[in-house]
This record gives sequence, C-alpha cells and structure tokens, in this order.
Amino acid sequence: MRTLITNGTIVTADGSYPADVLVDGETIALIGRDLAASGVTADETIDATGRYIMPGGIDVHTHMELPFGGTYAKDTFESGSRAAAFGATTTIVDFAVQPKGGTLRSGLDTWMAKAEGNTVIDYGFHMIVSDVNDASLAEMDRLVAEGVPDFKLFTAYPGVFLSDDGAIFRAMQQTEKNGGLIMMHAENGLAIDIVANQYAEAGKTDPYYHGVVRYPVFEGEATNRVIRLAEAAGVPVYIVHLSSRDALEQVKAARDRGSKAFAETCPQYLFLSLDDMGNGFEGAKFVCSPPLRPADHQEDLWTGLVKDDLQLVATDHCPFDFHGQKDLGRGDFRKIPNGLPAVEDRVNLLHDGGVVGGRFSRERWVEIVSTAPAKMFGMYPKKGAIAVGSDADIAIWDPDREVTISQSLMHHGSDYTPYEGIKVKGWPVSTMVRGAFVVRDGQLTGKPGGGAYVPREKSPLAKPAGKSAWE
Ligand SMILES: [Zn+2]
Repeated sequence: MRTLITNGTIVTADGSYPADVLVDGETIALIGRDLAASGVTADETIDATGRYIMPGGIDVHTHMELPFGGTYAKDTFESGSRAAAFGATTTIVDFAVQPKGGTLRSGLDTWMAKAEGNTVIDYGFHMIVSDVNDASLAEMDRLVAEGVPDFKLFTAYPGVFLSDDGAIFRAMQQTEKNGGLIMMHAENGLAIDIVANQYAEAGKTDPYYHGVVRYPVFEGEATNRVIRLAEAAGVPVYIVHLSSRDALEQVKAARDRGSKAFAETCPQYLFLSLDDMGNGFEGAKFVCSPPLRPADHQEDLWTGLVKDDLQLVATDHCPFDFHGQKDLGRGDFRKIPNGLPAVEDRVNLLHDGGVVGGRFSRERWVEIVSTAPAKMFGMYPKKGAIAVGSDADIAIWDPDREVTISQSLMHHGSDYTPYEGIKVKGWPVSTMVRGAFVVRDGQLTGKPGGGAYVPREKSPLAKPAGKSAWE
C-alpha cells in the first residue's frame, strides 16, 4: 500500500516546509515537492492543503488499567489507545508494575498481556520497581537489553511504591553499569502523609485539601534529593510529572551546574490549578498527584518548556469515573483515586497554549509532544520524525480549527474530562500508525491489535559519560 500525502506543510522539530510525503508500507519512502508531477504513483492520494503533516504524538507516561486505591484506572489499552489516536498520538509508553514480592518479569508479563491484541496504536513499557533487591537489580540489566530500559521509583506513597534513599541510590548505581535511566516520582510522601492525616483529623476532608497538604516544597525537596543522589551515582535522572515552581527551580539549578537532570510536565499543571479543586466534592475530578498547584506556578512551567529546562510534556493519563470511583473518597480526600484523563488532549492543548498562545514555535511544539520523547526514550528516528526510513507515524493537523473541549467529544474511558469547556485552536484531522490510518477525518479506522509493541534502545541521554545527544 502506497499513500501520497500532498499539499501540506511538514512540521518537524527542525523546521517547516511545504512538501509531499510518500508512505510505502509501514515507512516514509520519499519526501519532496510535487511528487505526483515527477511520476510518483500511489494507491491513494490525500490532499492536506492547509494542514500540517507532523510526526505522531508520543505520550511517554500513561497508566492504562492501573490498579490504584482499591480500583482500576478506567481506560483499558483498547479504550485508552483509541483516545490517544483521536488525539494525534501514535505511541504510548505505559508503566508495568513489579508486584510487591514478585519479579520485574512477572509485572512486565502482566502488562504485556493487557496490551497485546488490544492496542490501537504502538506501545512500549517502562518498569515500576516496587522492591529494590539483588534479584530485581539483576533483572534490570536483562530488561535494559531487551527494550525496557527505564525504571520508575517513588519517594511518595509510603507502604505502596515508596523506595528509601538507599534503594533509590542502589538502583541508580545499577543504571550506571547497565545504561538504563531512572525516572522519579519526586514528592516527600512521608511528610505529605503527616500533613494529610493532620488535616483529615481536623475534619478538613474535601478534595481541595488533597491539593493543600502536598506542599510544593515537598516536591522541591524530593526533586533536589533524587538529583543529588543521581549526581553521586554519576547517572542522569528523569523527573516525571513535574508540577511546581519549587521542583522546576531544582531541575534548573541542576542543569545550570552541568548535571544531567531531565523532566516532563503534564497538561494538567499548565492548564488547571488548585482553584479547580474547590466546589465541594466536584473537586475530586481534579485529584491527581502531584496535585494541581496555585495558578501562579503555570507560567513558570511554560517558561521551563521554552527554555528546555523541561524537555517534554507527557500526560500521566490515569482516568477514574467521577461516579463510582472518585466517590470512594467522599468524606476523606485521602481515599480519592489519584489521576486524570489527558491522553486525547495533550497535543491540542499544547498547540493552543504554546503555539497559538505565542509562547513557542510550532517546531518546538512538535519537539515537546513527539521528537523529544522519542529521543529521551530510545525510539528516535524510528519514531518522532518525518524522515525517509522513519515509521509512517503521521498526524495530519488542522491548525485553524477551533473546538471547545467537552466530554461528548472524548473517546477515553472516564465519565468526565477535567478540560470541559476549554476552547482550543488546532485539532487533529487524521492519525496514521506505520502507514495505516487509525483515525481518518475524525472517524475510527484502527483496530484493537493494530498497534505493535515497541522495544526501545537505551536513552542516548542515559550514557553515564560522554556527550549527550542534546548537545
Ligand atoms: Zn504516573
């Protein structure tokens, strides 16, 4: 099957230019002006006049079917990947979880089984390490070699995911040897629990207090701590879902002193704030961790993206129904399942706030939502590029279409969207994964099982010594 996409503007992290793209099978075969006039033939020709042709979005932080707080994240790999496809995203990297007392392998096998045959777009896995011990450290080496080269640890969620400083440091030392990358959820969970319990005992149980008790300084402290541990181990570190000015200042200071500290932020921290968590139990719709911050943090995060102190935006997509799941925390904010949907809106929100909002160029937008994630997580230039030989993972984008986000437009599993009523300019038209449309003119054409597992290379940034790919 050969598809010719004509008359569009190719937008990549490196530049924009008018050109046609020939897709042959699963990859991009040719890029050039007026390809049909020069004798190129195709089974189908798509007119992309007025549209961008860009590499499909890559969301490196999702939690499909994650067990959490006595329930499960509402999206399956099928529904969540379908929603992603409607949002111009062609690859997700989800988190497999090592069961407490079990092996990394058993956790990975469980998540592979959830995804296989069900996923509409391509997918890979990071590994959440729940127990750092001799056996799991040895397993890390094997996983790096077979395409799961990054490992997430937590300074939050005592008794569930929390690793102490010694465990974190041991895992970092292991990546110094095996070339893996440590990803950190950096909030001081022990201190947070002290404050959370004090609020609950004082009768302050509304969802709003979830946002209050997880102080920004608890994120700043943990961010600095894990970066310093990584410096001691001689490895880079990647901070997930950075939400606050306090944490950003630590990443920026680390980078200014030459440290290999990297971080993502998420749409919820750029577009939503602590103000959204008021209004009684309605605020449960906005409970995630780290929590939404006072609105004056938002512009600092945007500046972080402009200056590359934040390298990319992922979602931490982890939706729960308001009715039947978030409800578990009625009368006690500590029991509200943590998480929001965003996989469908990441690319459009960043286009609107970044490009239309005048904060950065369309090329930087593509870098933030596609190319930087591909590079950071060992998929570039197979993914994240419009280039000859790259996978034909392509979003056709209408930069002018104006849409008001609403639950009625969404394809995710949860019964609400936290972005209800937000107006955006720029919307995906069609999404292609390895040469086949999965969404075409707003209609689903992809099938469960059409997505392929993507084993990944080591992050070029995770090399413990030498020049990084970013310099
Ligand atoms: Zn997460």
